[in-house]
Amino acid sequence: MVGFLLFRSVTLTYPQDRLTPLAVDQVAPGVYVHTGVIALMTAANEGAIANLGFVIGGDGVAVVDTGGSVREGRRLLAAIREITDKPIRYVVNTHGHPDHVFGNAAFGPPTIFVGHHNLPRSLAERGPYYLKSFRPSMGSLLDDVKIVPPTLTVADQMKLDLGHRPLVLQAWRTSHSDTDLTVLDKASGTLFAGDLVFVRHIPVLDGSIRGWLKTIDDLAKIPAQRVIPGHGPAPSPWPGALNDERSYLQRLESDCSDLIKRGVPLAKAAQIAGTSEKSHWELFEDYNARNATAAYSELEWQ
Ligand SMILES: [Zn+2]
Repeated sequence: MVGFLLFRSVTLTYPQDRLTPLAVDQVAPGVYVHTGVIALMTAANEGAIANLGFVIGGDGVAVVDTGGSVREGRRLLAAIREITDKPIRYVVNTHGHPDHVFGNAAFGPPTIFVGHHNLPRSLAERGPYYLKSFRPSMGSLLDDVKIVPPTLTVADQMKLDLGHRPLVLQAWRTSHSDTDLTVLDKASGTLFAGDLVFVRHIPVLDGSIRGWLKTIDDLAKIPAQRVIPGHGPAPSPWPGALNDERSYLQRLESDCSDLIKRGVPLAKAAQIAGTSEKSHWELFEDYNARNATAAYSELEWQ
């Protein structure tokens, strides 16, 4: 006990103990969400651009995504500890993008990391590149980031129980990315959709436009009461939150198919496809040409 007290008095001098807990809202009984800013990851916003959340069950907590820096992950942990002292049984990553996984190292054993069955491979392939490519914008905030892969993987569907609180995890076909996983809290009807759902923030395509459109049709059948999108207002109404995203992706697909048929080369097509959607989205200039390039490349071969 004395040792414990000494340990506490020492650790209190470390900067992480002075971190301000992340702002979270209770969106349903036992379900909390931090809403990220609609922006690119920078040192100034600590990479805190994605929506994160946690669910408190009878005997433990599940965290859904950990943010864009270990600092953000620690601030999320501080927010959880202001609300409950139950053990954090699981960290579920909805996919492998940096703004959702760079905070993983804030959570240590015995927490079990959970993800899509493709996620270990994806993080092994891309992790080092992510750390390098975000260095200019994130600086020393990346110093303590570790790429932490899941040890519990989901090939199709899996149920986690937090103590009379079942979460249903669903792994999806390649859509926004090739590691997309959703989490449905059955008790409250809250669907954590990760980046399968974007609201206001332009959707970002790093998987398959055809796959994503199919997945949107499947997602719409999930009997949820509300959705936590990966980016944008959380919660958002369900399934209405899918409407703008579906329109954008359908527009991108039909524009690209058309441009391919007319023989318009990729570089030119990327400047044209999807642009009629511009007024509906934030960060449009940051991502639309890239989305168009990905969609064109996929559709060119079909
Ligand atoms: Zn993403």
